[in-house]
Amino acid sequence: MPLNILVCIKQVPDPEQFDRITLDPATGSINRAGIPPVTNPVDRHAVEEALRIREASGGTVAVLTMGPPQARKCLEDALAMGADRGVLLCDMAFAGADTLATAAVLAAGIRSAGDFDLVLCGNESVDGATGQVPAQLAEALGWPRVTYARKIEIAKEAATALVEREIEEGFLRVEVRLPAVIAVVKRINRYRLPTIFGILEAGKKEIIEVGCAACECAGLVAEAMGLAGSPTRVAGVFQSHRKRHVEMIGGEPKEAARGLIRKLKEMDAL
Ligand SMILES: Cc1cc2nc3c(=O)[nH]c(=O)nc-3n(C[C@H](O)[C@H](O)[C@H](O)COP(=O)(O)OP(=O)(O)OC[C@H]3O[C@@H](n4cnc5c(N)ncnc54)[C@H](O)[C@@H]3O)c2cc1C
Repeated sequence: MPLNILVCIKQVPDPEQFDRITLDPATGSINRAGIPPVTNPVDRHAVEEALRIREASGGTVAVLTMGPPQARKCLEDALAMGADRGVLLCDMAFAGADTLATAAVLAAGIRSAGDFDLVLCGNESVDGATGQVPAQLAEALGWPRVTYARKIEIAKEAATALVEREIEEGFLRVEVRLPAVIAVVKRINRYRLPTIFGILEAGKKEIIEVGCAACECAGLVAEAMGLAGSPTRVAGVFQSHRKRHVEMIGGEPKEAARGLIRKLKEMDAL
């Protein structure tokens, strides 16, 4: 049976350039200025999984992001991979959101964008990295959720999904009723790169913009959005400075090993 799938993707600063991120000690905010934005890496795997499910069972794949106008780029990249349409949740009222307010707006955006059988997310972003949004989103939608998914099989009649969920010692196999929110890990698949044809086709696909008013129509009050709807407060931020000290221990291997043991004992490290 065909499924309508929606994938939540987040734009993040390029992880290759994280060393350029600085913290503003006065405001506690992260300064990402000058760092090129990219799609959160694991979210590409979520898009890939949605495309594979569509290829196997039919249906549609929508991609959705909440972010500033520039976040449209990550929707375009997903459309070039093969997604059918995009939804950009963009409004000043959404700014300053913590994970709870993010999930509330994502849920309202999903409701206003159509009827979906399955919502896929990445398991964790590389910048905020809380891993809280998928569970909070499921709660806001009133749907069940499975996180750490490394394999998803949709039952023939599309009423349930069988999911392998990573745990420390191996994996759990769980069955979840649809509609559900499933958050995937990177090892679920290898994602495809957009082809030239895909990039050209992406230009013809629709990206709708959803703002505060549409979220209110979907049942979310303005006080639950952005900073106003965020119970989390950053109490303080600090940059850790590690001092490193290198000392080369020379000589024959046995002598060097004795020297190393002596040093470690002196440092109370043995
Ligand atoms: C007090 C406070 C203020 C903040 N203010 C800002 C701010 O002004 N600007 C800012 O950019 N961030 C801000 N943040 C960070 C913001 O809350 C998080 O980036 C956001 O809530 C997502 O959390 P996360 O990155 O930990 O997501 P995770 O839970 O780690 O993400 C898991 C998955 O959820 C989905 N997801 C997460 N976020 C989005 C999204 N936006 N759109 C679509 N899918 C998504 C993706 O599939 C992702 O892989 C603030 C945080 C706090 C605590």
